[in-house]
This record gives sequence, C-alpha cells and structure tokens, in this order.
Amino acid sequence: MTDDVRIDDPAGFPPQEDTVERLWTPQRMTYVLRNTEGRPTKPKSKECPFCVGPKKSDEDGLIAWRGTHVFAIMNLYPYNVGHLMICPYRHVGFITELDDDELFEFEKATTLAMKVMETVSHPDGYNIGINQGEVAGAGVAAHLHQHVVPRWNGDANFMPIVAETRTMPILLSDQRAAYAEAFTRLAPQSGLPLDR
Ligand SMILES: [Zn+2]
Repeated sequence: MTDDVRIDDPAGFPPQEDTVERLWTPQRMTYVLRNTEGRPTKPKSKECPFCVGPKKSDEDGLIAWRGTHVFAIMNLYPYNVGHLMICPYRHVGFITELDDDELFEFEKATTLAMKVMETVSHPDGYNIGINQGEVAGAGVAAHLHQHVVPRWNGDANFMPIVAETRTMPILLSDQRAAYAEAFTRLAPQSGLPLDR
C-alpha cells in the first residue's frame, strides 16, 4: 500500500456519500487499522469496530438487528449493495471459540439475514462466508464476522455493478433502516430475539 492510497476517515461514519468507488477496494476496513502515522497496523482491542458498533445507537452504529449473542451490522465498505455482517458481541476471532448458544444464534441469524434480504431486495443468490485469521483475508481478524452478501443476476462484472448501484437507493443509513424493519418483523418467526 502506498502513501497516497485514500483511507476514509471514520469520523464521518456512517457515510452519506456514494459507496460506488469503494467496491472491490483492498483498503476496505483500514479505517480501523491505522496507527498515529496513518499507516495500516494491527487493530487494538479498544478500536475494534465490532466491539464499538453495538455501543452506539442503531443508526450511528449501522446496526440492523441485535440478538442475545450476536448482532447484524452493515458493511461500511460493501462488496455489493446490501452487504451485511453477523457478529458475536464477544471479541473472539474464530468460530471455534463460540459456545453452543452463540454458535446457534450466529448461524440462525445468518439465515434470518437471508430472509430479510429476500423481503427487502429480492436477490437471486448470496455469498456467505467467514475469513478467519489475517492470512485468510479477514479485514478485522480479531473479531469474528460472517459476511452475507446479496447477489443479483448480472452483477458479476464490475461495470453492471457500478451502473446498478448508481441507480439504486444505496445509502447505508437507508439500507440499514429497511433491513431493521424487516428484522423486527421476521426475527420472532425465526425464533430469534429482539434485544432493542
Ligand atoms: Zn471486537
């Protein structure tokens, strides 16, 4: 990474600007990985965005749903429109560190997120997965997070995504609100709590 790579200032979180230019950018999430010189570094626990996020309001933290053990948060640097993440409240890096209750809600919430997306934006498919450890590509390796990315036919190459996102209501705050409404409606049907 060179000195002139743009790193977004977290002070503006959540961003109100167009996210198109962030798609597929390798510097995503580096807003939490800076030391005082502005260079990427390992995150300190107190800077962990997945520990800090739930301490904010739903709107400021971009939280779409809060369960008992896990929560759903919008990705500030989405792979695709509507990119959501499921995280445990506990600061653990690997899925093997979850206890049975956490693990159940973690996976159950992932299926709930799919149902929410189906209701809100009718995807044609999904990418779901976890990068565990820095070597595996985790942006915030210290805190487990499962990506849930909705996919639509025709979004598989760059230009259609750009064209599509520019014509969709993609502000993260608006997307969060739409998801939150659907989570509130669908969580009880999935046997999941609403700890709001
Ligand atoms: Zn954390």
